[in-house]
Amino acid sequence: MARRKYVIGNWKMNGLSATIADAQAIFAAAGDHPGVDVALCPPFTLIGAMVAAVPGAAVGGQDCHIASSGAFTGSVAAPMLADAGASLVIVGHSERREGCGESDADVRAKAEAGLAAGLSVILCVGEPRAVRESGGAIDHVLAQIAGSVPDEFAADRLAIAYEPIWAIGTGLVPTVGDVAAMHGAIRGALAARFGAAAEEMRLLYGGSVNGDNAAELLDAGDVDGALVGGASLTAGKFLPIVAAAAALG
Ligand code: PEP
Repeated sequence: MARRKYVIGNWKMNGLSATIADAQAIFAAAGDHPGVDVALCPPFTLIGAMVAAVPGAAVGGQDCHIASSGAFTGSVAAPMLADAGASLVIVGHSERREGCGESDADVRAKAEAGLAAGLSVILCVGEPRAVRESGGAIDHVLAQIAGSVPDEFAADRLAIAYEPIWAIGTGLVPTVGDVAAMHGAIRGALAARFGAAAEEMRLLYGGSVNGDNAAELLDAGDVDGALVGGASLTAGKFLPIVAAAAALG
């Protein structure tokens, strides 16, 4: 089946209320590319304002807690994201796996929490540079897939984002061949575990995607879209990526 291209902006810890105008510009211009699903994941503090400013836009969180409520100071639960108007959540980003010590089991529990709250889940995997250089990248990522993808989900509500850690925010990108090989391996592992549902799941590439390299990366085998950090903060940088996705259909 044809999978719609999906381009998601991860604003990380960037954005104040004034930057809602950037989101309005991004979603307005993305409307010129109806064949591409576009979403933005701002800091928690901006989700409600962004949804209010752009009704119907796909807005998401960058993380969620595994519990739906409780004594977890500083955390945000998946039902709270949904209540704020979010329709998706990123889980397992390497900045959380590495920076906050999240394990595959934690990521799986967060994915399950997001799905249970009715959100779509973008589940991130990716290898450190040393693992890539030692030739172990595919084994590393497939172990993350085995440990962090839940057993039950609707295929249209779970996407995998392959984000090599060494490519995030560095300007470095894998070769197109390496991206295609990794995405093919991920698709194969998902097919072995989930059968036909794996064909419906979207696999995104993330790591220093920009307007210059998007067309090539998005055209790699089994790449259905992009998770974009730095280049998602302004319409000027993000929209060429959306346009590249649209051109590939
Ligand atoms: C990310 O943080 O998910 C990401 C891919 O960042 P960047 O595009 O800046 O490398």
